Amino acid sequence: MDIIQSFMLDDGLFRGVFIAADQTLRELNEKHQYPQAVNKILDDCAVMAFALSSGLKYNGRFALQLRGQEKISSVYADVTKENRVRGYVVYDQTASLEETASFRSLFPTGELLFSVSQIGQEPYQGIVQLTGETLAQTVQSYFDLSVQIPTLIITDSDQDRIRCLLIQKMPDKNDVPHEIQNDLWETVRILAKSVQHEELFGTLTPKEILFRLFHEHQLVVFNEQKPFFSCDCHRDKMLRFLKKLTPIEREGLYQNNQITTACQFCGQEFTFKKEELE
Ligand SMILES: [Zn+2]
Repeated sequence: MDIIQSFMLDDGLFRGVFIAADQTLRELNEKHQYPQAVNKILDDCAVMAFALSSGLKYNGRFALQLRGQEKISSVYADVTKENRVRGYVVYDQTASLEETASFRSLFPTGELLFSVSQIGQEPYQGIVQLTGETLAQTVQSYFDLSVQIPTLIITDSDQDRIRCLLIQKMPDKNDVPHEIQNDLWETVRILAKSVQHEELFGTLTPKEILFRLFHEHQLVVFNEQKPFFSCDCHRDKMLRFLKKLTPIEREGLYQNNQITTACQFCGQEFTFKKEELE
């Protein structure tokens, strides 16, 4: 199942998104030959990028990066408004990475970076220390402490499938008493947390799951969207990059009078002859 399902509750007091990206993540993982533990953390990062970008108005790329200091030094995933995703991981290939390794053991210290890059605008960046037991907990603490937007993130996985449910409280509405808004938020949180693993990974569609949970909360679902893997690397872009290097920098890259590059996102190789570059 590959669906991004946005929704609203309680007359717009809360917004949310439900994400399933099974085939998309398989394609993302197939582009790399990572160990299973590395695939898992890349998949988590990709799903979280979809979840976090879902509430933003932007026209460019939303990127999420985990920086660690142990076996994995970088996990990067970015998404676009059209729901494309791509990503890669930099890790110590000599280290043993248990498939069951916890997030905490992979990132005992480190940081999480968010960035939004838009054409013609200064990039926006946020940064938070990796403190949680999971990526979802870390992101949630960012919302609680740094930006003070009440947020609930539920993630669950089943073999290579992940489900993510994110719900956020919108800014308080003046025509609804604060206590009522806070009570509703508590109820919505409890309902969201009641979702069962079997519901998330069974035959129900996201709409059906949301209806089961929130049918008493004026659930409004929007058109479902489809995530997909896509890399926009292009030979011309790489050619421009190589031409910007100094001749001395390029010299070290030549083998048999040509330079071969591989895209870090999809593995696509491009070869350039010396005549093209000098
Ligand atoms: Zn590529």
